[in-house]
Amino acid sequence: ARPRVVIVGGGAGGATAARYIAKDSGGAIDVVLIEPGKTYYTCFFSNLYLGGFRDLASIAHDYGMLASQYGVNVIHDLAVDIDREARSVALASGHALGYDRLIVSPGIDFVDGAVPGWDLTVQNRMPHAWKAGSQTQLLKAQIEAMREGGVFCMVAPPDPYRCPPGPYERISMVAHVLKERNPTAKILIVDPKEKFSKQALFEEGWSRHYPGMIERVGPDFGAANVEVRPDSMEVVIDGAPETVDVCNVIPAQKAGHIAGIAGLANDSGFCPIVPGTMQSRIDENIYILGDATIAGDMPKSAFSANSQAKVAAMQVRAALIGARAFPAKYSNTCWSLIDTGDGVKVGASYQAAEDKIAKVDGFVSQTGEDAALRKATFEESLGWYAGITADIFG
Ligand code: FAD
Repeated sequence: ARPRVVIVGGGAGGATAARYIAKDSGGAIDVVLIEPGKTYYTCFFSNLYLGGFRDLASIAHDYGMLASQYGVNVIHDLAVDIDREARSVALASGHALGYDRLIVSPGIDFVDGAVPGWDLTVQNRMPHAWKAGSQTQLLKAQIEAMREGGVFCMVAPPDPYRCPPGPYERISMVAHVLKERNPTAKILIVDPKEKFSKQALFEEGWSRHYPGMIERVGPDFGAANVEVRPDSMEVVIDGAPETVDVCNVIPAQKAGHIAGIAGLANDSGFCPIVPGTMQSRIDENIYILGDATIAGDMPKSAFSANSQAKVAAMQVRAALIGARAFPAKYSNTCWSLIDTGDGVKVGASYQAAEDKIAKVDGFVSQTGEDAALRKATFEESLGWYAGITADIFG
């Protein structure tokens, strides 16, 4: 029988790994992808959907090409347990699947109790929209229905979390919508972190495009000590309640639940990996990708997950059919849109060091750049989105 690789999670990491193993092994490996969703809405560019720059259909992708063009066996189901001794994955439907190698790329889940007052039962009152789809649609509808002069509040997450510049790009996109529709509205960011990604670039952009609209409260004013009351739409910052109109709560994060069930995460909630191969440090037959991992200097992004997936795909082909494996190289760029045509980016290349994936060199947009360069940066991001989604889903 052909050796089998089972992949849990059909997002940026898992779907890329499935496609590359299938494409490059010429049918010699049985590739099985487990993913409950039939449509995958990318979190990347979901902020642009909130801002009115993309429609929902443009961030929706399916698994048809993986099955029809690449021969991936796509099973729409949820992995509920992993028996590492028996090398078998149990599915919610009751079936079990044996594997020779397993790839786990389940993304993130939220840490219970991270924001007192918030849990999944109140996510319609106070959406996270940190997994894209219905939550993103809901948040957009709430922003558009906000009363004149109302307050949009974001409870930002502590490090480490999915997409470091993501909350601040979201703030920019919300401000863009409010500037048009509701110019007396205010935005309040309650942030437990001292600093955030591309901070100087965002702050410069906010004062240029949205003067007086955005206020950020940091940990020195008690933002690490926040609680929410969804019934009364209150945010309590260091004991002082404030009523808001829309509240986007993005809680602290951990590796997707199945990683914990399988014993692949450590005390940090995320999964330690071998920097040169993306193998779990806990089980050499398992590879872990994307947001679920402790990836050293690499941020949690779709670009990173896609880059890590190619390394794991090569290693799995080497292990199962003796294909050649080359030294790992990784890369990432995160683009953010601040207002129409005002794009910024940060990126780096990485390689495997002894103890972690280490940054080799990087680049970041500068404050004071001219409009033509910012427009070119935004246009680069459009090309990236088209390219990476084709690279993930075929
Ligand atoms: P995901 O893409 O989340 O995929 C995980 C998949 O696993 C999901 O489809 C889920 O259904 C499935 N799954 C989970 N548990 C199970 C289970 N038990 N069984 C089976 N399947 C399971 N990144 C960028 O590079 N650029 C950007 O511009 C960017 N913008 C972003 C903006 C926002 C607002 C957000 C929230 C994120 C953004 N990101 C961006 C980050 C990017 O979306 C994630 O880093 C990326 O999706 C991680 O890939 P992943 O494979 O780890 O997880």
